[in-house]
Amino acid sequence: MCDKIKLMHEKGGGFMTKKTKYYILLGVNIFLVLALSIAVFGFVKRNNDYKDAKTEIKHKQTTIEQQTKTNKELEEKLKQSEDNKASIQAELDTTKQENESLESENAKLKTEITQLKAKKASAVSSANKPAVPQNPQPTGKVCYLTFDDGPSANTLKILEILNRYNVKATFFVVDNAQTKIEYVPQIHAAGHTIGLHTASHNYAKIYSSVDNYFADLNAISSKVNSLIGLDSKVLRFPGGSSNTTSRKYCQGIMSVIAPKVTEMGYTYFDWNVDSGDASGHLSSSKIASNVLQQARNKTSICVLMHDAVGKVTTVDALSAIIEGLINQGFYFAPLTTESHGYHHGIQN
Ligand SMILES: [Zn+2]
Repeated sequence: MCDKIKLMHEKGGGFMTKKTKYYILLGVNIFLVLALSIAVFGFVKRNNDYKDAKTEIKHKQTTIEQQTKTNKELEEKLKQSEDNKASIQAELDTTKQENESLESENAKLKTEITQLKAKKASAVSSANKPAVPQNPQPTGKVCYLTFDDGPSANTLKILEILNRYNVKATFFVVDNAQTKIEYVPQIHAAGHTIGLHTASHNYAKIYSSVDNYFADLNAISSKVNSLIGLDSKVLRFPGGSSNTTSRKYCQGIMSVIAPKVTEMGYTYFDWNVDSGDASGHLSSSKIASNVLQQARNKTSICVLMHDAVGKVTTVDALSAIIEGLINQGFYFAPLTTESHGYHHGIQN
């Protein structure tokens, strides 16, 4: 303490009055109270803040715990779904293997089917060319004129023309509502061959079974026998041996009946010249030119014509046909079981 202040104390306060001291003391007290209040207030506030923060932290902790729990559950689920996925994948693999094995089985079956089809086709194709005996080709320039589906209202006119040229022909007869079966004896008496063409000429009936065919053939055979006293062994299949219409009614029937009729002593005949008179209404000149054109360059011919109601132009064409064929050097003969068959080849 400096000497001056020491002096002032010693002199009993000197420059400071009692009142002044009091105010100073009061001021200091007020200051201390204020400072204490501020400190207390600050402490309380900080304490509250701390409490709030603690609550918030606790809340956050709870949230985190919940989140963790949820995460764990999700992980569990994920694991389960992964397990499921693995099991599904395993099933998928098994199914795939089964598919592959089925596919291979399928391919094998397909191959077998193809082979069977090929075998069947080869069987059918060999059936298409049955070894049906056929008489050898004639040596001369012979013409066999043939008339199918009669007798009819045209038969007598045909007989008259043939007689005029002294030409012998063959009639493949039927016996149904449209035919004049009573002309058979007259045809036979004129020296022509009576051939068999079935009684009904109904494709749906005759080609529905082998038995039905032979029943119909026997019917016309008996009828002819009853009229002329002969069993004709010359025949022509309706539609020819190469007809494919019969497929509709019975698959493979021609392959059976063609060799069978041959075994039974019949000779069947197709043709190698078609007058075309079966289709539509051809003019007589067209019918004649069809025959004469097809006959050219052939050494022997079997000519298909029709003796049926409505085939008037065939009758009209006949003279021109005979004269034209004579000019080409042909002679005429009726078919017998010894004649060449002009077989087309079986297609059913
Ligand atoms: Zn016919």
